[in-house]
Amino acid sequence: MTNVDMKDLVALCKRRGFIFPASEIYGGINGFWDFGPLGTELKNNLRDMWWKWMVTTPPIGPDGEPVQIVGLDTAIIQNPKAWEASGHVGGFNDPMVDCKESKKRYRADHMNVYQADGSEYYFAFDKDASTENILKKVEKFYKKNKIEYSQDIGVHKTGTYDKYFDGDEVVGQTDIANFIAPDTYTSGTLTEPRQFNMMFHSFAGAAAGEENKVYLRPETCGGIFLNFKNVMDSSRVKMPFGIAQIGKAFRNEVTPRNFIFRSREFEQMELEWFCHEDDVPKWFDFWVEQRKKFWDFVGIDLNKIHFLDVPDGDRAHYSQKTTDFEYQFPFSGDGYDELEGVAHRGNYDLTKHQEHSGVKQQYIDPVTNERYIPHVIEPSCGLTRGVLALLSEAYVIDENRPSGGYMNFKPSMAPKKAAILPLVAKDGMPEAATKLYMELREHFAVDLDIKQNIGKRYARQDEIGTPYCFTIDGDTLTDGTVTVRERNTMSQERIPLDQVLLYLREKLAL
Ligand code: ATP
Repeated sequence: MTNVDMKDLVALCKRRGFIFPASEIYGGINGFWDFGPLGTELKNNLRDMWWKWMVTTPPIGPDGEPVQIVGLDTAIIQNPKAWEASGHVGGFNDPMVDCKESKKRYRADHMNVYQADGSEYYFAFDKDASTENILKKVEKFYKKNKIEYSQDIGVHKTGTYDKYFDGDEVVGQTDIANFIAPDTYTSGTLTEPRQFNMMFHSFAGAAAGEENKVYLRPETCGGIFLNFKNVMDSSRVKMPFGIAQIGKAFRNEVTPRNFIFRSREFEQMELEWFCHEDDVPKWFDFWVEQRKKFWDFVGIDLNKIHFLDVPDGDRAHYSQKTTDFEYQFPFSGDGYDELEGVAHRGNYDLTKHQEHSGVKQQYIDPVTNERYIPHVIEPSCGLTRGVLALLSEAYVIDENRPSGGYMNFKPSMAPKKAAILPLVAKDGMPEAATKLYMELREHFAVDLDIKQNIGKRYARQDEIGTPYCFTIDGDTLTDGTVTVRERNTMSQERIPLDQVLLYLREKLAL
């Protein structure tokens, strides 16, 4: 369990300009967020690192050969037939449950059910509910409904709500009237689960009729599959190879929550790795390993990631094997929540597009002349969730400093690499600081901060996670040295002013 309190993290993000609620002056809009100046930098740093790892300098493959990956940037809106073919129009559904009393809507597979020992009542809870809150609710329910209650009454988890409507294990043995919804104290207010399509739609053109209906992409990989043939025909890629894309995806999540973790508009970074079916196991393991290395490299503690082989029945409709990377987010309690999934999608998508469009999606091996529709390994991760993981990981509480803590970003991810701070705004110090700033800004994202007392300025840099502060003081003007303050240790040392660029280069390269 992490000791980071989500409320504090959200407050810091707003206070320092990482992330704001979208349309805040109008009361916000559920499931949408705006990235502020520093959040945008942080997100871009993570995005650019992913692109570098995947497209600009891709790794050496398991056979010692460099892998080939090309990038794309495809339209968010595509021909709706594409989403019919991919199964999203028919199948991109989550089972939803309504509460007739509170009018709230829940995802049936995200609601855990607890049976009160020795009674006919079943309590449904959000999957993040703590044991303490579960027991409190049960006690209150008994008291409100004037049912005899003993302090020793316990509960045990029976599964998720949707499971009661799966095949045999149906209500009947367990009467739906005996369920108590997460937000009420009356039994029997929950409906049966119903399917709900999560794709946002709009209309392309002036007429708002069914024939003009279009969808906002729910995942970025759609555009990759649609361009498989274009890429093969226009570039010199040979199997196996990858196509990568980063961009916005939209899902009309019924219960957006946990800050930017589950939002309705978010960004994904996806690689579709095309290969021969026989080579799937080798490449699957390779990509799982690569993705581990990536998260480690950007500063995520791998001990906080749990690798889950998703069991049959819980996988997406297209997937034959999936390993989820689940991270211990601050709201995950003792558990973990998905950050990334590496899936073997089979050759589902290209086969469906071939069937629906009538256009061949085959690869012809130039050596053996074998024709086949390649299989796909897909490492798919949320850029938005990645940013939340970086923020959660970096948040360090330190009561010994005025800011109360600091953001321990890896320098390569930090929005600002250094700050230049004149001790006071007089006696030639701002001028010397500006000179140093002008030199450093050509190489790094640096901040020049002149106003306020120095303690407050250090506090700000700590909270935005700037690894180094260079302070210009009276001595700088006489002996040509500056103080370097290191973010994590707060240790200070003096170095020559003309060595600052070199010093920073060396430190940031670590
Ligand atoms: P979940 O089970 O959390 O809804 P998923 O399994 O549906 O996620 P995928 O379809 O595998 O997610 O999408 C790939 C990645 O996209 C996820 O690992 C996650 O990082 C990101 N993602 C998916 N839905 C959202 C969302 N609503 N908000 C932010 N990121 C998301």
